[in-house]
Amino acid sequence: MKTTRTCGECGIPMGIARNLVWNANGTITQKKDPLHRLVFFESDNLDRLWGRLSEILGVTGEHIWELVVDSKSRATRAFLQRTLPRGVELLARVAGYRAMISTIESQGLVMGYGKITVGGQYPRRGRPERITVYIEDPYSLPLFCGDFKGAAEVLERRWARITRQALDSRRHQVDVTFGGERLGDESFVLVEEGAKKPGDMRFKPCPGCGAPLELRQFSWNLGSGVVREVRSGRRLAFFGTAGMRAVFEELAHELGGRVSDAIIEAERENALAALRGEEAASGYEGLRMMAAVRGLGLLTSLEMDDMGLRMRMSNPAIPEYVVGLALAVFELVSGKRGRHRWRMEPDGDLAAEISPA
Ligand SMILES: [Zn+2]
Repeated sequence: MKTTRTCGECGIPMGIARNLVWNANGTITQKKDPLHRLVFFESDNLDRLWGRLSEILGVTGEHIWELVVDSKSRATRAFLQRTLPRGVELLARVAGYRAMISTIESQGLVMGYGKITVGGQYPRRGRPERITVYIEDPYSLPLFCGDFKGAAEVLERRWARITRQALDSRRHQVDVTFGGERLGDESFVLVEEGAKKPGDMRFKPCPGCGAPLELRQFSWNLGSGVVREVRSGRRLAFFGTAGMRAVFEELAHELGGRVSDAIIEAERENALAALRGEEAASGYEGLRMMAAVRGLGLLTSLEMDDMGLRMRMSNPAIPEYVVGLALAVFELVSGKRGRHRWRMEPDGDLAAEISPA
């Protein structure tokens, strides 16, 4: 089956309908690896997020860049190690990198990563020392580089280094160069916790492919690897929550508790710029569906009045994102600046409260 074939009824790529599941508990997971959780989220602002974090936290952009690439590659190694068939290294030798990478190319198109093309490998035969790819309109350049580094490291079982070069405003050349040092088994482990709580979210399934019909509000351009919400033109992509969490945890490990507030602030700004007023005002049912279609988690309560906004969510993917969104929702609806308080409950739920600042 071609990953990029689309459903005749709803138009989404079969590579999405067959491989991903929208669960009743507000999560999106991989069919073959239910522990692998993804969000389908607005990506235009991802690279802006890294830029804002470097400003708010007072560290250089280059430092954030390295941290994002390293953390993301760690998550990608762990994920691929779990899901790729055994003997994949052998497969890479026999089938060659081109075959492997053509899979990555079509995967990139359906996941909304942009258009990936293989440049070549050096030396041309045998064990590669360097592999070049080109990416056009990446959903996030550092996240893409982390993915590519992680994938190369799983195939070669050696540490790899990434360099990149902008070719024009949309295209980048990315080279991965292998070092001599072997990767130990511990480099392939990353604990991913499955969502703990069941849920009652119901999607109407497409009669053609079984994916939620709500996905019809998005359009896939399978030539460019760009997915957009039709009405607003906002771009979205599917990305692993473990990769994002790994980045944020690494930042917090290094810079402490203020990282959470920085992520919330950056996401608040992103959401204020991107959300339509009527989306913010769509209430419990509307926001619950928006969150579940994106795999962010299951909204279980929401109250909003002049005094503020109070909400609870089961299985939150990235709690700081949700708090930033809640701030933006409150501010768009009330016209007042908000102040947030949040906590993770013992049962894993996120409880957040926004009050006028
Ligand atoms: Zn369909």
